[in-house]
This record gives sequence, structure tokens and C-alpha cells, in this order.
Amino acid sequence: MLSPVGIFGGTFDPIHYGHLRTAFEMLQALRFGEIRFVPSRDPPHRGITYANAATRFEMVRLAIQGLPGFTIDDRELQRDGPSYTVDTLESLRSDAGDTPLGLIVGMDAFLGLTDWHRWDEILGLAHIVVAHRPGWRAPDMGPLGELLSARGTHRVEDLHDRSHGRLHIHAVTQLEISSTEIRELVAAGRDPRFLMPDVVRDFIMESGCYTNPDSKH
Ligand code: ATP
Repeated sequence: MLSPVGIFGGTFDPIHYGHLRTAFEMLQALRFGEIRFVPSRDPPHRGITYANAATRFEMVRLAIQGLPGFTIDDRELQRDGPSYTVDTLESLRSDAGDTPLGLIVGMDAFLGLTDWHRWDEILGLAHIVVAHRPGWRAPDMGPLGELLSARGTHRVEDLHDRSHGRLHIHAVTQLEISSTEIRELVAAGRDPRFLMPDVVRDFIMESGCYTNPDSKH
């Protein structure tokens, strides 16, 4: 079977080293063939976004440019209405045939999974790979606790041998960087250097996307 493709969805408002390091560690440790970033156009749980969808997409594109194994996918930008992950996975699955897909989510996002649209169909389309984030614990009760005992696996091979259906929790280097804090820092006139690639930092400073309310970004 082909190597799994990791699907990394998110708002990326903006992308930072917490996202990039997580993706890179998954690529290497889980032996994924590719990590595909899928910026969300209209994230259902987030209310407003700050930078617009095209700008958030552009920042991800700049961040991963030239990095082997990292790709970007614009299918959520092309779709109207809320960007439901299950719709994205259905579309990716129909392109991927039997190639394993692994949806990458942070532990904070995983803990909210049961609020996602048609959440119980996700494991029918992809594996779920959960990245530890600082301060969060894996559930041991409720629907997610049950899901973990029914579908959880510690074996990386299980993500390769089947195209979907397993749940894997993977510890990643804890980088306590958040997009919210970056936006606040930039809005306060400070410099986000070293929290993200310079090319993204330069884009933010030049476009004014987090400082200038009239910016087209
Ligand atoms: P905010 O900081 O505003 O809450 P966010 O970075 O959590 O934003 P997204 O861009 O939607 O929001 O996150 C995309 C995915 O990346 C989510 O699954 C989230 O859990 C994960 N993620 C975000 N920051 C980190 C980090 N520092 N380390 C590991 N994973 C992260």
C-alpha cells in the first residue's frame, strides 16, 4: 500500500512553527509520504477569522515553499459554505483511491471532535492522528474515550496497512505558540520573528494584515 498522506487542516491565522514542527515530526516519525496543508475558508467553529482566506492560504504557501514532503491544497477555498472536514475528506478520499489518509489534529481540536459536522463518519474516510498540545490530556471517558479504546493504536504500521479507521495519539515537541497570541502581539506593534518562518513574518509586516483594519488582506 502507498505511504499515508497526512491531512493538516486549520485556520492558520497565521501559520507558525507549532504547526510546522508538528507536521514535520508526523512526516518523519509516522513515515507519511506527504503532509498536505488544507487551509479552511470558513471554519465552522471559529466565528470570525482575521486575515481573509486567500491571505491565510498565501501565508501557508510561503511557509512550506521548497520543503520536501509538504504540499498545500485549495479545495476548501473553492467550496462555498462552512468548511466541514468531513466534506473535505470525502473529496480527498475520492481522489486518493486506497491510499491511507491521516487527519492530523491537535489534542485541543480532538477534544471538540463530537461537535464536528458528521464527526462519526470521519474514521470511515481517514485515520485520525492526534498531536499532543501543551496542557491537554487524552480523554478516557465519554464518546472519545470509547473511540480511543475501540480504534486507538500505538502501532505506526496500522496507519500504513489500512486506508482509514484507526486513531493514533502521537507526542510532538511542545511548542507553545498560538495564532491568537501572534495576532495580539502584532496588533500591539511587536515583532513575531522566530515564531514562524521569516518569509511569513515579512509578509505579515508588509501587508499589515493584522494591524490595519482597512487592509485588503
Ligand atoms: P489559535 O492559537 O488562535 O487557537 P490554532 O493555531 O490553534 O489557533 P488552527 O490554525 O486552526 O488554530 O490550528 C490548526 C491545527 O493545528 C489544530 O489541529 C491545532 O490543534 C493545531 N495546533 C495549533 N497550534 C499548535 C501548536 N503550537 N502545536 C501543535 N499543534 C498545534
